[in-house]
Amino acid sequence: MSRPLPLPLRRWRPRIGRGDEWKRSICPYCGTGCGLLARAKDGAVAEVKGDPDHPVNQGKLCAKGALLAPVVRTDDRLLFPLLREDRSGPFMRVSWPAAVQRFAAAIRKAQVEHGPHAVMLYGSGQLVTEDYYLFGKLAKGYLRTNNQDTNSRLCMASAVVAYNLALGSDSPPCSYADIEAAKTFLIVGANPEACHPILFNRIKARRRADKDVRVILVDPRRTRTAEIADIHLRPRPGTDVALLNSLLYETLLAGGVDHDFIAAHTSGWEELSRVLGEYQAERAYEITGVPAQDTLDAARLYARNGPALSLWAMGLNQSANGVDNNLAIINLALASGNISKPGAGPFSLTGQPNAMGGREAGGLATALPGHRQVADPEHRAELERAWGIEPGSISDQPGLTAIEMVEALEAGRLKVLWVAGTNPLASLPNTERVRRALAKADFVAVQDAYHPTETTAAAHLVLPAAQWSERGGTMTNSERRICLLERIGAPPGEALPDWEIIRRVALALGYGRHFDYQTEEEIFDEYRALTRGRDLDISELSYDRLRQSSEGAQWPSRGGAADSTPRLFTDNRFATPDGRARFHALSQQRTAEQLDEAYPLALLTGRVKDQWHTRTRTGKVAKLNKSEPKPFLEVHPQDARACALADGDAVRVISRRGAFVAPARVTDAVPPGSVFAPFHWGPSWAADSTPNLAASEAFDPRSKEPELKFAAVRIEPAATVANSTP
Ligand code: SF4
Repeated sequence: MSRPLPLPLRRWRPRIGRGDEWKRSICPYCGTGCGLLARAKDGAVAEVKGDPDHPVNQGKLCAKGALLAPVVRTDDRLLFPLLREDRSGPFMRVSWPAAVQRFAAAIRKAQVEHGPHAVMLYGSGQLVTEDYYLFGKLAKGYLRTNNQDTNSRLCMASAVVAYNLALGSDSPPCSYADIEAAKTFLIVGANPEACHPILFNRIKARRRADKDVRVILVDPRRTRTAEIADIHLRPRPGTDVALLNSLLYETLLAGGVDHDFIAAHTSGWEELSRVLGEYQAERAYEITGVPAQDTLDAARLYARNGPALSLWAMGLNQSANGVDNNLAIINLALASGNISKPGAGPFSLTGQPNAMGGREAGGLATALPGHRQVADPEHRAELERAWGIEPGSISDQPGLTAIEMVEALEAGRLKVLWVAGTNPLASLPNTERVRRALAKADFVAVQDAYHPTETTAAAHLVLPAAQWSERGGTMTNSERRICLLERIGAPPGEALPDWEIIRRVALALGYGRHFDYQTEEEIFDEYRALTRGRDLDISELSYDRLRQSSEGAQWPSRGGAADSTPRLFTDNRFATPDGRARFHALSQQRTAEQLDEAYPLALLTGRVKDQWHTRTRTGKVAKLNKSEPKPFLEVHPQDARACALADGDAVRVISRRGAFVAPARVTDAVPPGSVFAPFHWGPSWAADSTPNLAASEAFDPRSKEPELKFAAVRIEPAATVANSTP
């Protein structure tokens, strides 16, 4: 091992106030972005409650948010940097200077021997915006590679591409306040009862408050969200474009298309209307399996009971045709004039707490901070000037995305991987392939709050990260609302905020002068200055201003009267060169793989209400484990009978990639021909329990988002059930 070089003395120190002060923060789980108040005892968060003054949740929290305190200090918190040169050997505790010097040496070696793109940074929607920005500055500006991506690629990259194509920028135009103004909700490929519970409660309250409010749900599964649906359309998995085209065609026939709006503010309608005729409800039924009368009823409701708010999530995004799925739902909103007015709009819900912040700060492999693109020479030049680096330093080549990262590891092109705040060995599809690919890397460094996770256990270097409540920073929720997360407790042991870890690695690489930050606020100030004049301008939004308000601010936030912008494009001028929103003529495409005799069932994956991602936090809370204590596979009675399965029997789910085992839950909540598994239970639960062993890594060619919502599988009885102690 190379001898550690002396580093400048650390300057970052956790600063916390008196332990009994309630401080403002944001829930670090889903993209709803609920405001909460928390206070510490003995340096760690001991109590959490909903912030009554926060506009998103007005004091309410779901169980995950309410039970945050127990996940902060657990026995598996990572306290010190750990290093091993041989991944089959044990980790040894090392000092921070030794850890970052070893890591910097690995990065330098890989780049000298194999070029700048031999290194990749893979982050998370859990990071604060300041972390994202600093990761991007280091990777794209100084390491000269755009190999910076995030696990948000897995949840909303298709929405990013579609918003850009249709509206000219990645700008969700709506607000949660539109929930209280909408008459019709069109919820597609989303299960807010489980995944955005506080938003679901707001929709339910809206429905109770106005007898004319209606809900249309599109989901092959009958989830608990269906309990508030007036119409539930259950298309065959992977047929969303056909169904949405059909809804638009029948909306047109029902008089729900706003021809004045189309003529004045859009382009591409003629091309789109030419293909719509193919999707008359009776004909679409052949593709979607949705009875024509149900489609007609939904279209008439949508056409006549406006304003209509369309909400969607992973069901549309996680598809090999994810961008088309998104464009199809945006087409419907545009054609009916349901955009940029109260109660209306195409509104993509983000999964993670700061997936949106990553989109803003350039956390994706094709993006640069401030909604800039690596493909745009002017954007690259702006950043090069701002960062004080040579013209041409930022590569014009898009970086590797999540699945491409796996391919590059396999091919030996990617030598050093830096993972922050995520667990790809449980969360990426085709997990076994990911494990084999990761084993080929010369050096893997993982910064995480917990150890072991599936991924830290496969690393050379594990760096202890501060987690929620132990670091400050900003996050942006689905409605573009930026809020400040105050530091409340201190990190345990030698754990550091992610931005401070990035700064130390940058120092060790010799870029100290450009990473001379003492606080996260300094990073935010540098980032916000770069947004001046951009569509998401927050140049006037300081930490002080965020502290003065319990509401945060929805971007753009330019100060004065334009402090916060609840709704975008209210003048019907969109961010395209001609100011017109663009329709896209779409045809239903096939899923990446097809059902056949060997693999006759569609595997759908999703979430349960009281668990979060790979359960590194929620899996440790007994109260959260009560509602769903173990993995399961929903199987329709007809398919269960065909396989001689009874409720509770062990069932093996086999795809072309791999297999997992779970207890069967025989239910007609899934349609015949489909099975459903929650993706939370990974190898740390039981070696063979991971649905991602079978999930497909095929991805949309434009968004590179994998088709996690569809895999062709077969099922068979298994001898044992994957089991573990909660
Ligand atoms: S709805 Fe989401 S943000 Fe709100 S408390 Fe629950 S998990 Fe947290």
